[in-house]
Amino acid sequence: MAGRREQVTIGRPYVERPERVRILDRLGPDELLVHEIYRSIQGESTFAGLPCTFVRLTACHLRCRWCDTPHAFGQGQPLRISEVLDRVKELGERLVEITGGEPLLQPGVYPLMEGLVQGGYQVLLETSGSLDVSGVPRSVHIIMDIKCPGSGEEGSNRWENIELLKDWHDEVKFVVANHADFQWALDVIRRYRLHDRLNVLISPAYGLVEPKVLAEWILESRLPVRMQLQLHKYIWGPEARGV
Ligand code: SF4
Repeated sequence: MAGRREQVTIGRPYVERPERVRILDRLGPDELLVHEIYRSIQGESTFAGLPCTFVRLTACHLRCRWCDTPHAFGQGQPLRISEVLDRVKELGERLVEITGGEPLLQPGVYPLMEGLVQGGYQVLLETSGSLDVSGVPRSVHIIMDIKCPGSGEEGSNRWENIELLKDWHDEVKFVVANHADFQWALDVIRRYRLHDRLNVLISPAYGLVEPKVLAEWILESRLPVRMQLQLHKYIWGPEARGV
């Protein structure tokens, strides 16, 4: 119980560009600003291909050059945590991903994760890797980005997070926009021996690197990393939302 009490009292994290997340100021203590909740096929991670409910929270303090969810920066509806849990229950999937934007910006995400875990869901958290993940419940499966230079957000990586990830449970993801990004990712993987304890995912930035080219780079590297494509973009097209 002590751990749970600690998690529900986590406050808003410090961010360098607070004007980007000012929209969260008006939230009540038991509310979340929710961009969308929907049911789809999981497009990424080792859970790719499975039916999943997505809870997309509003706001992000970063601005990755290739970001495909800028619509989640500022549009959202305030919902009580209990309303989010009800909606997830209505959609009826056992697998639930909390994503954004950056979901760890909202303190209400911690009781939401606790509520989902207690409700028997398998919970995935997709996070930018720039905020402290130490308060995430142990059973939540973290999928953490490591931002390559081509994103423009390399300086936002919180390297201390790597030690906090759970061996063979959590995943790290690199989105590469060019060959220099790929080389940079390989250096990071080798330096932290990521492939010895985590699932390592490498994706091409959509429209910037051809999947075939990335496949060749990975094979040349001889590292046991997992190439992933954003499945939902191939099924429904790159511009489709809520899928
Ligand atoms: S962290 Fe995610 S939501 Fe935020 S700018 Fe980057 S890609 Fe977009």
